[in-house]
Amino acid sequence: MTEPVAQPIFFVVDEDPSAVEMLVGDLERRFQADYRVMGETSAQAALERLGALRDSGEQVALIICAESMRAMPGSELLARSRAAHPDAKRILLIDYSDQRMLDVIARGMALGRVEYYLTKPWRPSEHLLYPVIGEALVAWTRLNSPGFALVRIVGDHWDPRSFAVRDALERNNVPYAFYDRGSPEGAELLQKLDQVPDNPVIFLADGRVLTSYTRADVAEAVGAQMAVGAQVRPRLDAYDLVVVGAGPAGLSAAVYGASEGLSTLVLESTAIGGQAGTSSRIRNFLGFPAGISGGELAERAYEQAWMLGAEFVLMNGASGLSADGDGLQVTLSEDGQVTARAVVLATGVSYRQLDAPGIADLVGAGVFYGSALSEAPAVKDQDVFIVGAGNSAGQTAIYLARSASSVTLLVRGDSLAKSMSDYLITEIEGTPRAQVRLHTEVAAARGDHRLTELVLRDRATGRDDTVPAAALFVMIGATPHTDWLPGDVARDRHGFILTGRDLPGRDRAETGQPIPLPLETSLPGVFAAGDVQAGSVKRVASAVGQGSVAIPQVHEHLQRQATQPAARS
Ligand SMILES: Cc1cc2nc3c(=O)[nH]c(=O)nc-3n(C[C@H](O)[C@H](O)[C@H](O)COP(=O)(O)OP(=O)(O)OC[C@H]3O[C@@H](n4cnc5c(N)ncnc54)[C@H](O)[C@@H]3O)c2cc1C
Repeated sequence: MTEPVAQPIFFVVDEDPSAVEMLVGDLERRFQADYRVMGETSAQAALERLGALRDSGEQVALIICAESMRAMPGSELLARSRAAHPDAKRILLIDYSDQRMLDVIARGMALGRVEYYLTKPWRPSEHLLYPVIGEALVAWTRLNSPGFALVRIVGDHWDPRSFAVRDALERNNVPYAFYDRGSPEGAELLQKLDQVPDNPVIFLADGRVLTSYTRADVAEAVGAQMAVGAQVRPRLDAYDLVVVGAGPAGLSAAVYGASEGLSTLVLESTAIGGQAGTSSRIRNFLGFPAGISGGELAERAYEQAWMLGAEFVLMNGASGLSADGDGLQVTLSEDGQVTARAVVLATGVSYRQLDAPGIADLVGAGVFYGSALSEAPAVKDQDVFIVGAGNSAGQTAIYLARSASSVTLLVRGDSLAKSMSDYLITEIEGTPRAQVRLHTEVAAARGDHRLTELVLRDRATGRDDTVPAAALFVMIGATPHTDWLPGDVARDRHGFILTGRDLPGRDRAETGQPIPLPLETSLPGVFAAGDVQAGSVKRVASAVGQGSVAIPQVHEHLQRQATQPAARS
């Protein structure tokens, strides 16, 4: 007889026994078929019991904790509970009348201590309690669903090819298991093969085994699991509109293009959602006061675009683009090509990563990529560090110095003058709470569940200095995904795509071509939207805005083309 699997736990903490009793009751009424609900009325006892649950291998799905406890603020307990149950979703319970409510929630969320909040009283539960619990459970289940594997991979853990397959499956939400070649499970699977290749081997649930494959083969093999309606090859040869990239800008262009009657194909090289899809919580997108996970936002947008008629091709991006008579030809990276009357380039950027021990584990918990100005309230009266020497790093330093107790710019070189505008350098010099440390790099970041200190290395002397730190903003630049584009799509010196009035020689009067539209590139009929466009604001909302704004311009281009058939020469 197999052992029954213990149900995951909801853990409630409040010093008010009647509140614990009521909340446990409300949760049991709705969730006790699948979860156990436990309550504690002391912070210390709660931490001890959470530790004991970890030691006995129990799974805690949610920890709900009241902020107003005498022994320890709830946000502090939630932060500490992370050591025992790193995957549990943390929900702060806060009195509706608490004047500090906004401050506590904003700070807790920004520093990664709190992921959701509930107000007290939480009744009517249908309206105020269950939707928040449901949302937290969706996020928890996504990462902790019982180990069903649709795909099993056997390879060497540190082989980049293994990582590439795992990453593609993970980002497309395909349940998989990875086994090292030397592990008993890996060896047993490989025994089934006559000849074992040196690349990772993929075992599919239907019995097929992929020993040699392209990304498109993998995508096709597991395609049905990636996203309803997505495929790895286009259905048609020609479309009105091809959108390259399925981040926020591309998804928005797809929604508007498809809903406005254009036959629309979206090509995505990796996974739906782009950078936003990797963000655990987007808190500044209009209409989501408690934030929304980037993955969920992307899924909703994908479904919307698909239901409006957009076609999606995943893991088979664009690798070439050229003018083809009155139309455009897009070559696919794995296989095939399509023609389009217009193209929206929404290929986004990759942020350069800071490579120092401890950084990767603390992203979102005190370490932030980009300026993340929305985190300013969270760093009030705290020591903050910024890595970078460009204008955006300077602007962020001045902005954060209004509320942080100190802001330190960490610069590897011996001067800011090479990379930052004079006026910003002068402003930093005149800001008492801002300072600059030259020839300094981050050697390590430390903190149990959130960033607490940094080890800074003086590149001239090699000396390390450990400093307390509440937040680190990494602003060492972003690389646009544009190397695959032809030379006739003009870019700035960093590779970002120039559009509209930023184009050199924008008056095409000499060539007889119409003046480019605001988001049109130097190649007529090709538009750029989102982070990849030169001068773009690197935000989800602005990417979504540009994606939608590109579509009326696509219509205008098509209109022009219809009335001026010889426009392209
Ligand atoms: C960790 C993190 C957290 C963030 N948090 C926030 C936040 O809280 N609020 C906020 O406003 N902004 C946030 N941002 C920034 C925000 O995510 C970006 O500004 C936004 O995603 C840009 O959208 P985009 O569509 O222009 O580009 P991207 O999101 O970069 O998407 C581009 C897509 O194009 C695909 N692609 C690239 N090349 C090709 C090709 N040749 N063929 C096919 N597809 C291709 C990529 O795989 C990618 O999916 C965050 C960014 C990161 C990295």
